[in-house]
Amino acid sequence: MILTKEKIEQFSKMIEVSDNIVILSHFNPDGDAVGSTTGLYKFLQNLGKKNLSIIYPNEYAQNLSFLFEGVNHLIASNGLLTAKQLLKQADLLIFMDLNRISRTSEELQCLIEPLDIPKILIDHHIDPHQFDISFSDSEASSTAELTYKIIKQLDSTKIDLNVAKSIYTGICTDTGSFSYSCSRKDCFEVAAELVDLGLEIAPLKRQVFDLSSENRLKLLGYLLSEKLRVFSEYKAAYISVSKQELRQFNFQKGDLEGVVNYCLKIEGIEFAALLSERQDTIRLSFRSTNPSIDVNKFANQYWNGGGHILAAGGNSTLSLEETEKILEEQIHNNLHESNY
Ligand code: 5GP
Ligand code: MN
Repeated sequence: MILTKEKIEQFSKMIEVSDNIVILSHFNPDGDAVGSTTGLYKFLQNLGKKNLSIIYPNEYAQNLSFLFEGVNHLIASNGLLTAKQLLKQADLLIFMDLNRISRTSEELQCLIEPLDIPKILIDHHIDPHQFDISFSDSEASSTAELTYKIIKQLDSTKIDLNVAKSIYTGICTDTGSFSYSCSRKDCFEVAAELVDLGLEIAPLKRQVFDLSSENRLKLLGYLLSEKLRVFSEYKAAYISVSKQELRQFNFQKGDLEGVVNYCLKIEGIEFAALLSERQDTIRLSFRSTNPSIDVNKFANQYWNGGGHILAAGGNSTLSLEETEKILEEQIHNNLHESNY
């Protein structure tokens, strides 16, 4: 049982006695990270909690900024000193949408680990580390879905339209608008309850998924026409993009969100990857449509990463060309038959 009465009561008491609550999420915060953290934040605010803050290791995508009205938050990569102060004053830390503290950033991890205060986990990734209270459900579509179930038990009267907007954003980004296989009955039920609260789906969908800068659309067109590499006999495809190419299209955080999925639009393709060159590393995103190609294990074993069976990410410290070469070798060695 993930949501036992005892755990909920324990969490409720911790919230009650805490005066400085800090919520944290993972590096490169996505829609679920932002949706679940801002949703919990607004709920705690509605409960009457005063000193609340969210710390993200680095910037979130601009299309999510509408969720931050009245939300006190900090990007640690822009202000580590302030993060340090917030963490020093904190008496409760809540980690969301990550399974281990190292998924924040090295700098934050060093600040967090010595702190002798309760650390709570709310997450849906596989293999969670130990926390003081852990709400971990790898069957949940999203951390936002799990968060909704928790706050509903804590005090359903404090879930308002603003909380609903955040939770819905988290669910629909992690489920690809209720289309991925993680979209089980529960996430539809939660969505129905959010709609019952008066949530309007269409403007939210446009805000989160449809609006795009001109540069982002052009980058997408370029990547699809020039950079898509298809290995039909191995049922694999990938796109890779260099720093210089990203600069050319005035890359903004979030511009590559969803690009990896285009590879899977080709009939027969079961494995997709996106390689993008960042400041000092190559960021890798993996997607699979075949559960026997477990990209969580693949990312974990070869690319210093992890995630879920059908969606995972990793990092490479090699050059973009070397990373491409290794990935192509792995594709040729037949992902389907390897025992990673
Ligand atoms: P994305 O490709 O969208 O960045 O990530 C896909 C999924 O894998 C998300 O659930 C994300 O949290 C997870 N993920 C991405 N990168 C990493 C990583 O480096 N380590 C782990 N453990 N999970 C990751
Ligand atoms: Mn998530």
